[in-house]
Amino acid sequence: MIKKLLIANRGEIALRILRACRELGIKTVAVYSEADRSLKHVGLADEAVCIGPGPSAKSYLSATAILSAAEITGADAIHPGYGFLSENPDFAERVEASGFIFVGPRADSIRLMGDKVSAIRTMMAAGVPTVPGSGKPLDDNAEENYAIAERIGYPVIIKAAGGGGGRGMRVVYDKAMLLESIALTKNEAGVAFNNPEVYMEKFLQTPRHIEIQVLSDGQGNAVHLGERDCSMQRRHQKVVEEAPAPGITQAEREFIGNQCARACIEMNYRGAGTFEFLYEKGHFYFIEMNTRIQVEHPVTEMVTGIDLVRTQIQIAAGMPLPFKQDDIKLRGHAIECRVNAEDPTHNFMPSPGKITRAHVPGGIGVRWDSHIYSGYSVPPTYDSMIGKLIVHGDTRESALARMENALSEMVIEGIKTNLGLQKEIISDEGFRKGGVNIHYLEKKLGMH
Ligand code: ADP
Repeated sequence: MIKKLLIANRGEIALRILRACRELGIKTVAVYSEADRSLKHVGLADEAVCIGPGPSAKSYLSATAILSAAEITGADAIHPGYGFLSENPDFAERVEASGFIFVGPRADSIRLMGDKVSAIRTMMAAGVPTVPGSGKPLDDNAEENYAIAERIGYPVIIKAAGGGGGRGMRVVYDKAMLLESIALTKNEAGVAFNNPEVYMEKFLQTPRHIEIQVLSDGQGNAVHLGERDCSMQRRHQKVVEEAPAPGITQAEREFIGNQCARACIEMNYRGAGTFEFLYEKGHFYFIEMNTRIQVEHPVTEMVTGIDLVRTQIQIAAGMPLPFKQDDIKLRGHAIECRVNAEDPTHNFMPSPGKITRAHVPGGIGVRWDSHIYSGYSVPPTYDSMIGKLIVHGDTRESALARMENALSEMVIEGIKTNLGLQKEIISDEGFRKGGVNIHYLEKKLGMH
């Protein structure tokens, strides 16, 4: 059993993990940077340790500082949240080598999925549908590369095997640009990700982003918890997410969900995970797997009634999955709006500073996952997301109505936020119809 857990993160997800621990009767240790003394979870945790100055490299990304804090406080487990060290296999390895439980997958699973080429090969072997592509890193053989592109058909996309955050990708529309694009992407990938390997995929022109949530105990049991539609994006960053995905049939859900669960069993995967797919013309195409809890996990919690963070901790403690696939039923519809401290009218410029007034919505089916409060200062140092507004309703229509209502009740003063944009999205005709593709928001914002 886990008695004391160190939360190696900040902001809303740190608070989310703290809440799960409290319900489980687990003591908590918060670690925070000098810029984060006033974080809500720091005040609520049983113990709190300052691990360094504001810049993440010196605090939230310092494995040594975090392990020392765990050692000093006598924690027995570490939850990495999302971002920061959550998908760093070396960190996972060090945590376990130091005698702590890592709330996440084994280091070798993180490593396997962290390299996109090895992830795709693993999925192909497990029968998960992937994007038609090279299926291997590209060599410097011009004729072979031309042949791969011909076989796939233009346009193609060149992607860095070690890429992330929507960087390290280049679309190629015809043969004339192929070799130059491969060379450029390799160069960039070498600099940005310390790994020059690139691969080729068919470039899908109007896909939706649909992802499958899984839980797997590493003891031979795995389930899927349905899908989330995260197509509303700007610069590859998700802005609104919902579950289930509009128009996806139960047969499609079962087919793709079962493939993902089966892949987890084949990999002997342990923990929560997300299989990300592009979806176009009735087909799913795997693009990558995230080996951590995701920002948008609450929409899945709302439609399944399953606490994903709690289950992550139970799996890490060695418990087998407490439910089977047949026990998981989807009920109603959930939508999440990410609330960011940024100014959509000025090119989404970050807007840190003091929140002078905050009133948050409530009522049936309304959930607000956030660390902010009246008087809290949003530091300029980190990601601009300050909260997630999540609603649940019996139908998509009722969820939309609840979100509209909830957004209209929300007041955040002193800083700029994207609440106005979220209201526009929720009342947007195309979004209300459902099933928009990943370019929809940027088109609406006039970025194309
Ligand atoms: P990252 O790890 O950087 O997020 P992904 O592989 O998840 O990289 O791709 C990020 C985004 O790039 C996708 O959500 C999609 O918008 C676009 N993309 C990636 N691969 C393709 C593809 N084959 N066709 C069209 N768009 C793609």
